[in-house]
Amino acid sequence: MSRVALVTGGTRGIGAAISVALKGAGYRVAANYAGNEEKAKAFADETGIPVFRWDVSNYQACVDGIADVEAKIGPIEILVNNAGITRDAMFHKMTPQQWNEVISTNLTGVFNMTHPVWSGMRDRNFGRVITISSINGQKGQMGQANYSAAKAGDLGFTKALAQEGAAKGITVNAICPGYIATEMVLAVPEKVLNERIIPQIPVGRLGQPEEIGRVVVFLASDEAGFITGSTISANGGQFFV
Ligand code: NDP
Repeated sequence: MSRVALVTGGTRGIGAAISVALKGAGYRVAANYAGNEEKAKAFADETGIPVFRWDVSNYQACVDGIADVEAKIGPIEILVNNAGITRDAMFHKMTPQQWNEVISTNLTGVFNMTHPVWSGMRDRNFGRVITISSINGQKGQMGQANYSAAKAGDLGFTKALAQEGAAKGITVNAICPGYIATEMVLAVPEKVLNERIIPQIPVGRLGQPEEIGRVVVFLASDEAGFITGSTISANGGQFFV
């Protein structure tokens, strides 16, 4: 039977493209989401991928949600930590709530999701943990001290856990997308996109969510077993580490 993959925030944007790409590659896929029922239902109807609602910033909700997915579909062998939010503000105006919400979802959420699947991956001597970080975790971004800190934290988490998982057949990797054409980015006024953002991208365009989906499919494959602790940038040449 084919392997089971769980994608957090897997019903919209980059996550939806990852879910569809994994399904296309033959995985049995479950997509998690936070609360946008309308989008999740439309996604499930369109793709046939089952959707599961819980908040990744809540540890117990993750334990319960993962148990539900495993009971209905099977043990999770591929975990894609994609769920993420922004609460942008210049630091002098940033509230503790804006800080905490982003850290809780984008960094603690990665712990909350990975911890409950880790023992099973160790027992089965196979696992793939793939976390969607960001170019802004690599280079920092003004107005995003919270987001940049969380996404940089995801990279440290990835490198540490890769060392723990290596002897057990588990690879742990991160992808750092640049500007990708999702609702988050397309909400930016067209003039700002065309005059300020796209000129920063050497390939001259936004990335497509499917371009991140293909990287995930590669990292999830058995053939990528020698790649662990890595950060793959997919940013159109905008930033080199
Ligand atoms: P979207 O806002 O389009 O989608 C976010 C998804 O995450 C939704 O499915 C949402 O669920 C889910 N989600 C948000 N918070 C939670 C939560 N607490 N628990 C469970 N699910 C949650 O985001 P993108 O597709 O643009 O981004 C996906 C990832 O890629 C994020 O981690 C983002 O930081 C990262 N990224 C995006 C870039 C871009 O240019 N778009 C660039 C670099 C990184 P619901 O639909 O229910 O709200």
